[in-house]
Order: sequence, then structure tokens, then C-alpha cells
Amino acid sequence: MNIVMALQQVVGADHVLTGEAAQPYLTDWRGRYTGQALAVVRPGNVQEVAQVVRCCIEHQAPMVPQGGNTGLCGGATPDAQGKSVVVVLTRLNRVLQVDTADDTITVQAGCTLREVQEAAAAADRLFPLSLAAEGSCTIGGNLATNAGGTQVLRYGNTRDLTLGLEVVTADGDIWSGLRGLRKDNTGYDLRDLYIGSEGTLGIITAATLKLYPQPVARCTAMLAFNELPAAVRMLARARKGFGAALTGFELISHYCLDSVTRQFTQQKWPFDESGRQCAWYALLEISDSESADHARERFETVVGDAIEAGDVVDAVIAASIAQSNDLWHLRESIPLAEKQMGKNIKHDVSIPVSRMADFVDQTNAQLQQAFPGVRHIVFGHLGDGNLHYNVAAPAGSDETAFLGLQSQVYQLVHDSVHAFAGSISAEHGVGQLKKDLLPLYKSEVELALMRKIKRALDPHVLMNPGKVINSADI
Ligand code: FAD
Repeated sequence: MNIVMALQQVVGADHVLTGEAAQPYLTDWRGRYTGQALAVVRPGNVQEVAQVVRCCIEHQAPMVPQGGNTGLCGGATPDAQGKSVVVVLTRLNRVLQVDTADDTITVQAGCTLREVQEAAAAADRLFPLSLAAEGSCTIGGNLATNAGGTQVLRYGNTRDLTLGLEVVTADGDIWSGLRGLRKDNTGYDLRDLYIGSEGTLGIITAATLKLYPQPVARCTAMLAFNELPAAVRMLARARKGFGAALTGFELISHYCLDSVTRQFTQQKWPFDESGRQCAWYALLEISDSESADHARERFETVVGDAIEAGDVVDAVIAASIAQSNDLWHLRESIPLAEKQMGKNIKHDVSIPVSRMADFVDQTNAQLQQAFPGVRHIVFGHLGDGNLHYNVAAPAGSDETAFLGLQSQVYQLVHDSVHAFAGSISAEHGVGQLKKDLLPLYKSEVELALMRKIKRALDPHVLMNPGKVINSADI
């Protein structure tokens, strides 16, 4: 029996897609990678996932796990050989349990992030992971990439929000680790091995996640700065002034805000003329356990001090939930505005916050020297030291020719990140995009340990080959 027929026996013919029907699953969100596959299979429960894995082992077919396909490193896209099976988890989309006594939620991997947030909110709890793709990305994808987003500053990334996992191993066994314990030191942390492994070690089928109390009120503000060091000083001031109430501190360059308001004309600048001329902006959010008025007063005090110190040029403190949503909408529209404006060369990097301003200054200068006129598209989660440092072709120049320089631009930016003791992948992962870069910036000891883990947990070397680690190196 061929593999397509075997898979049909496991999940039913309707859930094994080939030809035209498979196409939407074979290209990544950015449209950067397109692959081929023997079939796209959509199992409906954990037992079917395990049977699919065993079937693929029997037929020696590589497996590519896929959730919402919003990943930005090509991790969910098969290669061009057409020998893989794409395993799509979106039918595993049930919320299994919300436990308000232990403050946990247990969900299947194919739930979208928004569905998890909504299930938590319905029980008067907060699931704080938040990112612009939350309507489409799945919790399984969030776990597999250890996604970050806009509230890491207060609540941590996906790893920090996870208590237990259920995984179908690369051998086709089911590991039921859906424990809601806050403490469990009984040996190696298997959960943390699978989190962030980008589908290269096994398939995550469910998770038990942490819930938090809903804040009584939230308050959002956008601040304008003439220079980046002033925004970094504001972060320190906000940490001190708000403590654990500070949930987000997003950095936005003038170029980004200007692009959003020009691409999406319904989105307006929140500042008048003087604020609009500033080089940098920050979107801050605090959660308050008393009231909206109390939150606003706290903002007025801390921001007032920063204005007096000359760091903040202009400030808009949202007076309503609608205004707060508008400010967040500006921030969340940056990736879409970028996409509409064409392709650019992206870097998702982290730098110690204390060195952020020097990194941007020096790297901008080096880029201008090497590639005169390039445009810098810089935004990110300043509170976590995470920048999306993207570089576009000079205005009016040949975009395709510039994209051809990608490896030189990568090298310049990533060498600079390395020199500033940063990471070349802060939150998006490695996928196919950065797998050849890891050997340049990770030590041989780290790489050797990673290869040993891969060999031990994926003995057939069929789990998402060509992602994170080069297949030839395993
Ligand atoms: P996919 O894209 O389907 O897969 C991503 C990787 O995970 C692949 O390697 C895949 O093989 C693996 N995988 C997927 N599901 C499973 C599973 N169940 N078991 C094992 N492996 C699996 N990311 C951030 O971290 N922070 C952001 O702020 C952020 N903002 C974004 C904004 C936009 C507009 C977009 C398009 C993306 C953004 N991302 C961000 C990236 C992306 O949304 C995240 O990486 C997300 O976690 C991917 O989830 P997904 O379900 O779409 O995964």
C-alpha cells in the first residue's frame, strides 16, 4: 500500500490532501519558501497523530509539522524534493480544561492563540501571550517556536507560560506530560526540550498553560523621543515607576509609524506636528489592580517626570479602551505595512538593553557605508531587548538587486549583533532561514550538544529535516 492510501486509512480520505488542495500548505506566510509534499495530512486527535508518525516511519517519509503557518523562518514549509508529509494540527482544536482553582488551561495544539485567550477570559482569567498573528497562529506553533510577543516583559515567553505538554515522539509514542505542577524536579526537563524545537524532535499535541488574574484596568500610552538613548532611559524609569505593572514597552521608529499611517490611511498619527517629527516612539502598557483612573494617574506621574527631565518630547495617554486599541493597532500594523511596501531583509535580534542604542547607531552607520541609501525599518520589544531590525533597498532603487545582497547584509548585521553579545534569533526561531548561520555564531560545544539531542530524540531523522540543524551535520 502506498503512503497516501495508508494515511487515508488513518485519518479518512477527506483529510489527506494532494495536488491543488495541498498547495495552500506548501508556501510560508512571507511567500519566501515554497516546497513540495507527498501529501498534507490533517489528523483529528492524538492517536491519529501517533499513527501518522508510525506510518511515515514505515514509509521513510520526512514529516513537517504545521500549525497556523504564520512562522517567519520557513520552519513549516517542506523542501522541494516532494518526499515529505506535512502534518497539519489545526483539527486538534479543543479547549480540554480550564482550571480556575489551579489557574491552568489545557488545550489541544491546534487551538489558535486567540481561542486560548478567549477561553481564559471567559473564565475571568488572563492568558497573556499576545502577538499580531494571534488570530491565525496555533498554540502548538507558539510552543514549537517559543514565541514571544508584546507581554514578555511581564509574563515571559511561551516557555515561561507552559507547565505541561503532550507530545507524539519521533518514534510515534505518546508522551502524556500534561501536568499542571509549578514545581517538578524529577529529572531532565523533557518539556523544555520540545519547546522551541521547531518540530524537529516531535509533534506537540496538547499543553497545560499558566493563567493569571485579569487586570482590573489597563492603560496605554505612546511617547515620542528625539533619540534612542532617551527611550532606553524611559524603559528604566518605567520599570522603576510601575514595577510588575509594566506589561509592554514597544519601540517604533519614525519610519515605521510613518509607513503605517501612509499605507493604511484610516490609521492616524496620534501626535500633532512636534510629536510627528520625532525619531523614535514607544508604546507602553500597564495593568492596574485598582481602576482605570488609578492607572492613568500613575502614567501621568511617571511620564510627567520624564517630560520634565527632557527625555519625552510628547505623550498621548489613552483615555478609553478604543483609543488604547487604536495605539496598539498602529504597532501591530507594522508587519503588514512592511509587507505591502515590498520585500526587505529582516533580522530578529536581541541585544542587552544597555547596549541597544550603540548597536543601532553603529550598525546603521556600517550599513550606510556599505550600502549607501538603504532604509532602516526598526521596531520591536525594547523591554525584552528584542529588535526587528529590517533593511530595505534605497528608495526608488531595484529591490530585487538589493535582495540579492542578502548574505552580505546578514553578515554585517549579525556580526554586529554578535559583537554586542546579542542573539541572531530572538523570538522567531531558526527554521530554514537561519540554519546555516548557527554554526557561525554558536560554539562548537553547543552545536555538538544540539546534534546529540537531535539524534537521540529523532533516531529516524525524519522530523522536519533541514530545519534548525543542517541534515548533513546530523
Ligand atoms: P507554524 O508557522 O505553522 O510553524 C512554525 C514552526 O513550528 C515550524 O517549524 C513547525 O514545524 C513547528 N510546529 C508548528 N506546530 C507544531 C506542533 N504542534 N508540534 C511541533 N512543531 C510544530 N512571533 C513571535 O515570537 N513574536 C511576535 O511578536 C510575532 N509576531 C508576528 C506577527 C505576524 C504578522 C506574523 C505573520 C508572525 C509573527 N510571529 C511572531 C511569528 C509566528 O506567528 C510565530 O512563530 C508563531 O508561534 C507560529 O505559530 P504557527 O501555528 O503559525 O506555526
